[in-house]
Amino acid sequence: MNHFEPIDGELSCESVPLREIAQSVGTPVYVYSSATLERHYGVLRDALRQEGLKGEHGGDALIAFAVKANSNLAVLKTLARLGAGADTVSEGEIRRALAAGIPANRIVFSGVGKTAEELAFALKVGVSEINVESEPEMHLASNIAQSLGTRAVIAIRVNPDVSAGGHAKIATGKADNKFGVSFSEAERLYAQASNNAGLKPVGVTCHIGSQITDLAPMSAAFSKMKGLVQRLRGEGHSVERLDLGGGLGVPYFHQPTPPSPADYARMIARTMTGLDIAYSFEPGRMIAANAGVLVAEVLHIHERPEGRKFAVLDAAMNDLIRPAMYDAYHDIKPVRVRPGSPEMYDVVGPICETGDTFTRERELPPLAPGDLIAFMSAGAYGAVMSSEYNSRLLVPEVLVQGDQYAVVRPRPTYEDMLARDRLPDWL
Ligand SMILES: *Cc1c(COP(=O)(O)O)cnc(C)c1O
Repeated sequence: MNHFEPIDGELSCESVPLREIAQSVGTPVYVYSSATLERHYGVLRDALRQEGLKGEHGGDALIAFAVKANSNLAVLKTLARLGAGADTVSEGEIRRALAAGIPANRIVFSGVGKTAEELAFALKVGVSEINVESEPEMHLASNIAQSLGTRAVIAIRVNPDVSAGGHAKIATGKADNKFGVSFSEAERLYAQASNNAGLKPVGVTCHIGSQITDLAPMSAAFSKMKGLVQRLRGEGHSVERLDLGGGLGVPYFHQPTPPSPADYARMIARTMTGLDIAYSFEPGRMIAANAGVLVAEVLHIHERPEGRKFAVLDAAMNDLIRPAMYDAYHDIKPVRVRPGSPEMYDVVGPICETGDTFTRERELPPLAPGDLIAFMSAGAYGAVMSSEYNSRLLVPEVLVQGDQYAVVRPRPTYEDMLARDRLPDWL
């Protein structure tokens, strides 16, 4: 469910017509709905509560929003106010989470390639846990912690070697992916870490991929994680936390309907029966995807003699790269539907690359130059992956709450863009 519905025939975000935002901020523009962000967070929190999946000290499980899905400070703060933590993969993301008011003890630091500087930063601010992905990284964390006179609180990221479906570029849970260590290695590393003055191992973690629409591979992976926790405990180790990652899919239309958060929580409770542990989760897409749209204007309708019709937009692959990068499907809705029978369009951006195609042969209501359209489900992995390719200005972001909206990242000016480059003395 989301809060993008027509009001008086005009697609709106909560109570604000998208046309109004497009007119005042210009297009292309990302628009996010606070109510949808809040709803998705709340639905997951309630589902976990319902199934008795608790966090530390008997409180709610930690829902650490995957900042890489949408790192806008206003989005993070909206979630922070509900008690969200943050799953981060760089110093920049840790800084964003802190700036949005997420306390360090709710910030998880993940990622395959953390640098020494980033680890030192994470230790200094006191993040809740560093999810280590390899033996060399674990030793680096230990050395840095010892040089800072502290211990790194770590969880070992395991690669459960399951295939979870989804696009190959976002599958992370097979043994040939770069993520995490095997179960036997995890046991060895946990034992090592327990005897290391720079480390405090507190748990284990996994994340098997993104846009997962089938609970079976998740359940298989989680059941293996349970076995690992039990073996580690059997060896006398204390294992307090289990971080089950993110990855739950969202409905992008024309795709398998993903399980609901309630189904997901029920599956976990069933898989983990009898295990007493503090749970944490790292959802990105399921919180943010359907909470955002990209609004663009139709510049031209270009008809080829052979009959193909191209709707050329003012948005391009640099603003929303998912279709080009992951063959992703985004539902496209005209902000105001014109009367008339639907037609087939190739919806494209202006960049001189065939990859700058959002969709081919999509049946849409008739479009004309000047019409506004919305790419639905663009709140995750949208603006965060945008660039200035073709020296197009970085796309702005707007947050709506009820009948109000605010620009939460303005479009830069051309002067801003040019001012970031420097000319060397010899030119
Ligand atoms: C990307 C990522 C997530 C979030 O994935 P979603 O599919 O957006 O839920 C969570 N944890 C880790 C380690 C990730 O890399």
